[in-house]
Amino acid sequence: MSKSEVKTSLLDNMIGVGDMVLLEPLSENSFIQNLKNRFDHDEIYTYIGTVVISINPYQSLPIYTADKVEEYRNRNFYELNPHIYALADEAYRSLRDQDKDQCILITGESGAGKTEASKLVMSYVAAVCGKGQEVNKVKEQLLQSNPVLEAFGNAKTVRNDNSSRFGKYMDIEFDFKGDPLGGVISNYLLEKSRVVKQPRGERNFHIFYQLLSGASDDLLKRLKLERDVSKYNYLSLDSAVVSDLDDGANFRIIMDAMKTVCFMDNEVQSVLELVAAVMKLGNIESIDEIIVLVGSFYWTDLKEICELLGIEQIVLERAFSSRTLEAKQEKVSTTLNVAQAYYARDALAKNLYSRLFSWLVTRINESIKVHWLFSKKVMGVLDIYGFEIFENNSFEQFIINYCNEKLQQIFIDLTLHEEQEEYIREGIEWKNIEYFNNAVICDLIENGILAMLDDECLRPGTVTDETFLDKLNTVCAGHHHFESRHCTNSQFLTDHTLPHNCFRIQHYAGKVLYCVEGFVDKNNDLLYRDLSQAMYKARHPLIKLLFPEGDPSKMNLKRPPTAGFQFRASVGTLMKNLQTKNPNYIRCIKPNDKKAARIFTETLVRHQVRYLGLMENVRVRRAGYAFRQLYKPCLERYKMLCQQTWPHWRGPLFALEKKRRECLEVLAAVIQKIYRGWKQRKHFLLMKKSQVVVA
Ligand code: ADP
Ligand code: MG
Repeated sequence: MSKSEVKTSLLDNMIGVGDMVLLEPLSENSFIQNLKNRFDHDEIYTYIGTVVISINPYQSLPIYTADKVEEYRNRNFYELNPHIYALADEAYRSLRDQDKDQCILITGESGAGKTEASKLVMSYVAAVCGKGQEVNKVKEQLLQSNPVLEAFGNAKTVRNDNSSRFGKYMDIEFDFKGDPLGGVISNYLLEKSRVVKQPRGERNFHIFYQLLSGASDDLLKRLKLERDVSKYNYLSLDSAVVSDLDDGANFRIIMDAMKTVCFMDNEVQSVLELVAAVMKLGNIESIDEIIVLVGSFYWTDLKEICELLGIEQIVLERAFSSRTLEAKQEKVSTTLNVAQAYYARDALAKNLYSRLFSWLVTRINESIKVHWLFSKKVMGVLDIYGFEIFENNSFEQFIINYCNEKLQQIFIDLTLHEEQEEYIREGIEWKNIEYFNNAVICDLIENGILAMLDDECLRPGTVTDETFLDKLNTVCAGHHHFESRHCTNSQFLTDHTLPHNCFRIQHYAGKVLYCVEGFVDKNNDLLYRDLSQAMYKARHPLIKLLFPEGDPSKMNLKRPPTAGFQFRASVGTLMKNLQTKNPNYIRCIKPNDKKAARIFTETLVRHQVRYLGLMENVRVRRAGYAFRQLYKPCLERYKMLCQQTWPHWRGPLFALEKKRRECLEVLAAVIQKIYRGWKQRKHFLLMKKSQVVVA
């Protein structure tokens, strides 16, 4: 069959080219045209070998029905039109039949469709794995953990009406038959600054609006809340209503989901009490900006907060208006000024909410955890916050973008670096394919900026965001990916247009200007001890658990690790975990900035194709081998296909050369069978390509 014949047969019922590896001729333009062509025909998935590119359609497409699930079930990856279900099916079968732990790595910028993709993968796997009452209960719990965490951890941003403001990694555990047993969720740094302040056009976390809109009058009364959003300072007004979101209906969905995940009624009530208390904290205001004495604050909602949390009013009042400093075993109480009092109030609200969120994850994990310890197979699904470039970027964007750098690093390591290294190791002739390795940016962030920030935070004396930036300017001077107004970049130029309190990083996905204001504070993440002690004194069953450091008998003078340190450590653990599993990639692309269907903005897509390294990915795949397997499992799986290897292999297993020869014999037999039996099939060439190349 000639090349043109191949193309015609593949195109028979496929729009454009389903696998970029087969695209002819290959160029960035043809790549993007192929994506556009497919997108225009509602084909949002395209492969690069086994990598799935997914373009957010911003409309609901009829491609996730039960019939579609059946269509993709137990079918070969290349057999059907590209689909996220094909990837999910491949990963699941590989886990079930070949005992390989899997991870699904979903990347892309904010609003590109990562969270939706992760839910599609989970729902597909839930649909095809095991049946029976017990198994169905486990599946329901795993799936219903999503809406709960989204309610508390997602918010409307300018990029995405349902933007994940936390990172989430979920290990789903299966038994030897491939039936789900349960799972474990890890969460990564919730963007807690959102609790007290949101950028223009954005909202606080969904749960606040859902509660006010969906709770019954009776529940609101019990929580001492009013239905009107405008009554609460922490809830931004200009964007309180999002046209596509039905907060009231979603509240009832969340309540049902919490039941499914086995939250008791009193636990749900406790959670909502804390949500109400956080909302009310924002309303505690000073009526006098000048005279600040205990009692001069006008504590509008203080009384009700204390009733909700079971705290003596005087205890909280004191904690908001004074601070105890300990020096040389002496306690000195100082009065807080207005700014400090507001700072304390906001710090409490942020801590309360983010600790509540972590508690929710722990509580869900208790419900879904696997109780017995026999060997398990694991599928990890990673859905983190996407790369972000805003007008004003702060510590939160810095952390989010760092996490994205690390994920890009894994992709580069495994698909570009490792793959090429392997050919060299195997002694196969190979022409090196150049790519940008972002290890240098990860190093700048980890060992430069975050390390310097920690040094500053731990240094005695006056530490400010400015002293931190000064240090950065010295340490990072000349780094190819770092710039600031007072720091010459790699070309020995100084950009005088940069604001004096900012630094700029050339990330793999673009340049981002970070304002250092708040870096030291957010990294320190300190809560005045008076406040944690006040919380610990509460009679509320949950709140005591959330502030263990408030226990006077366990007072630990050691400083807790900084936010940056903790994040770096947990990302490090995550990366190690991912590297032990077989990766499956979904690369999400955002087609436009308008959150609109049917618009494909070429420049925007081109930018993403470039920084995601997709062209390099295709080139490596085209030049390389499409299929690989170790000799032993290959023989084990296919020995029956060849007279020479069935029923027994000849010779000892450990003789590599022998295994190699036997594999070739099996493959020769397989290929003959393919020729005979599968001649008519359309995917034949793909199969042939991969099989022949190995042989
Ligand atoms: P991300 O997690 O990458 O920030 P989301 O997965 O939350 O982005 O997607 C943003 C929005 O785009 C969703 O709320 C949904 O409206 C839409 N969307 C994303 N993927 C799909 C899809 N496959 N089908 C239909 N709509 C989608
Ligand atoms: Mg998301």
